[in-house]
Amino acid sequence: MQLADLVYLRCPTCHAALRLHIGDGIHGSVRCARNTHTYDIRQGILDLLTPTRPHSMAAWSNEWRLTAWAYERIWRPYALSILSGTSFGYDREQAILGEAFAHTRGLVVDLACSNGLYARIIAKAYPQKSVIGIDRSMPMLIEAQRRAVAARLPISYIRADARTLPIPSDVAEGIVIGGSLNEMEELSRVFAEISRIATPTSTLINMALIRASSFFGKQIQAVLAPGGITFFDPTAMTTQLAHYGWHIQSSTITGIVWFIRATRSGA
Ligand SMILES: [Zn+2]
Repeated sequence: MQLADLVYLRCPTCHAALRLHIGDGIHGSVRCARNTHTYDIRQGILDLLTPTRPHSMAAWSNEWRLTAWAYERIWRPYALSILSGTSFGYDREQAILGEAFAHTRGLVVDLACSNGLYARIIAKAYPQKSVIGIDRSMPMLIEAQRRAVAARLPISYIRADARTLPIPSDVAEGIVIGGSLNEMEELSRVFAEISRIATPTSTLINMALIRASSFFGKQIQAVLAPGGITFFDPTAMTTQLAHYGWHIQSSTITGIVWFIRATRSGA
């Protein structure tokens, strides 16, 4: 992790500031300002996960090394084209992210970052921003870190839970979520957390999968639902985001792939 990014983090237990205790950003540990809690940095990843285990199959599968290895190699490059039913390459996602964060400075958080695709796109396009990728799966983070190092991008990867983010209030200028809300539990807690860490001028980019309207699409989603994948009703999610103070600036649905850009300020 980038030690300079410690200013954006807090002890997940007592919420005090964190500082380097031993070693460096590759191998070492950080300790909170109260000298009570210590957290390890291993292979460049800071582990701030307090012991909560995932319940759903989708979340568990992300804990497996094979899933982490295969995710960006086999599934992710083709995922949006398959799910949207049209050619939907990384260039389109790159354009959406680039436009959204062109005028922001400061911290961008890639929430449930998997292999860090969005974190890398933002860090590459905007070297002046700090980029923190958060995920609960260590195998996913190890692969994300490997890719960031190979691309020489200064991204901090942190293991933490989206329901209790180890980030102080009002610091994130940008938040990106690439499909992960579909696999998360207790979404209202996640929405409350992203709203808490967002600055008053923050921008949120959320890519999510919505409910299918075709017969076959509905059958497939019915099979996936017990595994912990939720497909959203766009109207319900828009209402929920509005409840947490987000104004939808743009909304694009392609097949079942839904991109929204929302801001806190309404501008
Ligand atoms: Zn502490």
